[in-house]
Amino acid sequence: MLKPSSTLFFIHTFGCQMNQADTGIVTSILQDAGFERCGDEAEAGIVLLNSCAVRENAVDRIGNFLQQLKGRKRRQKALVVGVLGCVPQFERESFFSANPFVDFIAGPDTYRALPSMLDAAMEGKRQSRLEYDHDETYAGIDPVREGRIGAFLPVMRGCNNHCAFCVVPVTRGRERSVPLRTVVDEVARLEASGFREVTLLGQNVNSYRDASGGEDFANLLNAVSQAAPGMRIRFTTSHPKDISEELVRIIAERPNLCNHIHLPVQSGSSRILGLMRRGHTREEYLRKIDMIRHHIPDAAITTDLIAGFCSESDEEHRQTLSLLETVRFDASFMFYYSVRPGTWADRNLADDVPEEVKKSRLQEIIELQNAISQERFREEVGRTVEVLAESESRRSASQLMGRTETNRAVVFDRGRFAPGDLVRVRISGASSATLVGVSVDEE
Ligand code: SF4
Repeated sequence: MLKPSSTLFFIHTFGCQMNQADTGIVTSILQDAGFERCGDEAEAGIVLLNSCAVRENAVDRIGNFLQQLKGRKRRQKALVVGVLGCVPQFERESFFSANPFVDFIAGPDTYRALPSMLDAAMEGKRQSRLEYDHDETYAGIDPVREGRIGAFLPVMRGCNNHCAFCVVPVTRGRERSVPLRTVVDEVARLEASGFREVTLLGQNVNSYRDASGGEDFANLLNAVSQAAPGMRIRFTTSHPKDISEELVRIIAERPNLCNHIHLPVQSGSSRILGLMRRGHTREEYLRKIDMIRHHIPDAAITTDLIAGFCSESDEEHRQTLSLLETVRFDASFMFYYSVRPGTWADRNLADDVPEEVKKSRLQEIIELQNAISQERFREEVGRTVEVLAESESRRSASQLMGRTETNRAVVFDRGRFAPGDLVRVRISGASSATLVGVSVDEE
């Protein structure tokens, strides 16, 4: 086995797409400073954890990795361990003092300082950098990306909403947007370098605002779709109170803007939405859904749901179930409420729904959503859809996996095709999460 080299680094990435994009930024910064990324943790002299704090179990996962690293560090004194991202930003110095074998911690706004923190760590100096920089967008840093098919591109960072249950405003700070020109140039560069799809990222992309020109997200999306007509363009995450009719109209007009909108609702009860400080009611949410379906009848809409939020009654839980039946989402990310320390809910509301009730409500939501997804996916059987092949299917190398522009996963016999190809596939079968089919050219 190779002796771990002090300039080789390995990154474990946890959590959301924004964290995956940040790992690309961190890799670029470290490579520019002469460090080298490696694919095998055992070879690395530096191990970084890019952490997620969105829910308790996400933080527990980091804890498990840290225990392993603690053991490795006992055997290999020169090993440098750094924890990045949302966990240290959220738990701050208490995290650092609770983990004395961790050499440094760095919040999401401090990655430009990583090379100097690594140098200090190699001299045995522990450092924590958790300051917010409300102007930092890492503009000008060319992230290192995996593959050549789909790319994540943060267009804004932070969030000014303060939903009662959410840690993001604490872990990622206030909103700031990447200049429109920078985003458009980056997307054009991605297309020129062979990428087929780009996903514009933000905790709440709808509140995007170019600081100099004042352009909003609808302007940005329109400019990006014109700059890269051959690329599929996606974006996430939207907020129901901010999504505009102008934005939806542009998605309907521009062929390369994907007809998939992720619109977290969290609950079907207006009283609970009020307690969650979501800034909209059930009725306002349903009007936004009607507006989207008016302009894009076959739009795929997905959402996020929290079961068992503070004081949620059985009747309010049923309102969430009836909202699922009304909207018929393609898919949902579904969780039961877990208190995050320091959030508004933690400070002001009692977490009074018993865990077993939270779990049984979540189970009901999952079963209903799976049944709806199954029905919606079955409606595709017999149709021909355009699929961007992304990779070999997990099941067999003779099959490819890809996505429709409505973000539905499709598995089909590869024939003469390869990842990166746009393939017309006739759908022959469906589960609640995957479509199967045959490429029309092979029929
Ligand atoms: S919009 Fe609300 S839930 Fe989403 S990141 Fe911001 S505070 Fe969190």
